[in-house]
Amino acid sequence: MEKFVDDDERYLDWIEKNPSGFVVNSLRNPLTGYLMLHHADCWTISTPTRSNWTIHQYIKFCAPDKTELENWAQNEVRRDLKYCGICNK
Ligand SMILES: [Zn+2]
Repeated sequence: MEKFVDDDERYLDWIEKNPSGFVVNSLRNPLTGYLMLHHADCWTISTPTRSNWTIHQYIKFCAPDKTELENWAQNEVRRDLKYCGICNK
């Protein structure tokens, strides 16, 4: 799992190289509980016309396998992931 904070360039590079991977969109402190799981190709987290993906209140956790992110949320954050309604159909 990789964490992207204040680094949109590396984040966008990661989703480009891992189109079948998964991304958790989180507030800067994941313990606050907003954890939304997306497919890496979901337009809501990858539109190139926006550039503040990891700069302001949100950060991203990325992994090739969603189980890794689910386990992280359960074990480290002790929260369930929410599943994006747009890309998790
Ligand atoms: Zn999505």
